[in-house]
Amino acid sequence: MSTLRREVVIDLISDLIRIDSVTPWLVEGGKGEAAVVNYFTAWVADLPVEVEVQEIEPGRVNFIATLRGTGGGPVLCLNAHADTVGYAGWPLEALVPRVEGDRLYGLGSSDDKGCCAIALFVLRHLANQPRLRGDLIVACVADEEGISIGTEHLVTQLRADYAMVLEPDALPRVIVEHQGFGWLDIVIIGRAAHGSAPETGVDAIIGLAEVLTRLRQWDLKHFGALPEPRNGKTVFHTGIVTGGTDYATYPSQATVGIEIGTQPGETMNDRVREIEDIIAEVVELMPGLSGDVRVRLEREPFLGAGQEKLLASLNGAARTHLGRELDSVGLNAWTDAALMQASGIPTVVLGPLGGNFHSPNEWVSISEVVSLTDILVDAATDLLS
Ligand SMILES: [Zn+2]
Repeated sequence: MSTLRREVVIDLISDLIRIDSVTPWLVEGGKGEAAVVNYFTAWVADLPVEVEVQEIEPGRVNFIATLRGTGGGPVLCLNAHADTVGYAGWPLEALVPRVEGDRLYGLGSSDDKGCCAIALFVLRHLANQPRLRGDLIVACVADEEGISIGTEHLVTQLRADYAMVLEPDALPRVIVEHQGFGWLDIVIIGRAAHGSAPETGVDAIIGLAEVLTRLRQWDLKHFGALPEPRNGKTVFHTGIVTGGTDYATYPSQATVGIEIGTQPGETMNDRVREIEDIIAEVVELMPGLSGDVRVRLEREPFLGAGQEKLLASLNGAARTHLGRELDSVGLNAWTDAALMQASGIPTVVLGPLGGNFHSPNEWVSISEVVSLTDILVDAATDLLS
């Protein structure tokens, strides 16, 4: 039986939902994490933990709470993010928690304040029992919904042997790999000319259209035919397109911003080369045209390594609470786990069932928050003993 009561879960997550922590990276004027981190600090004030508030930029903060063990044991870090996306689609309801049956509705209920709550419940549980050998670190980080300045900062100084990144998913899944992604600009350069001078003009927009048509075919043929779709079809879509100056002039430049994925084992250079090959084909068809690819943001894929002990502890706990082991799976999305693992810390991702992430009526399953907390308490106890 769980010692965590449903009312306690509803109370904490509801309090967190009420505190606006929209990442200003996505939404201008977003409040950032300072207020919610103040709440976390107050919530652990009665616990024997060391609290550090890392200010990364003004108003952008990580909350780190460390429960020291008796010594000689490993260090486990639970990482969840304190920021949320914006809520323009449901301005009146987003910050007003609402319970219906097993569902708790509200902005961040699952992504990721429900997960912050799970990490805090695990911390409180372990703090209220005899000390284990190892240390437990709870990191509620900034800006995961932006460009992850929180976890980027965290890993520069974190010493940990294991990490669990908590993001909404569903039991009995544990994520051990996922795609990387990049934001790329494809820039096509033509030659400006008067509309009545086709012999001098080179139409950059037509060139870009050719590139995009071929890229779309590449997407269908190669990404769509991924033989082992553990992490889903490789991401590809366009995002922004700009180009040209006026109706009467051959456009000298056209740019498309795309999002594109990488599977574990691939790098963004693989994608850049594929696109460069396509540009070269089009340039051959349209003399005078040129083009290049600019990487605006690049995030490596996540492929767990060294997680055997972590998974054994989680599976032991899952047998107790679910009557079965967890399924090790991939994911068609990106999480801070890639940064944690890249810093050398064996990492897995897991989280409670929820829905409507990044959209109105986001919800989390209250009973899964309880189940996952129970599993993490047992797994952490096993790891840190
Ligand atoms: Zn999230």
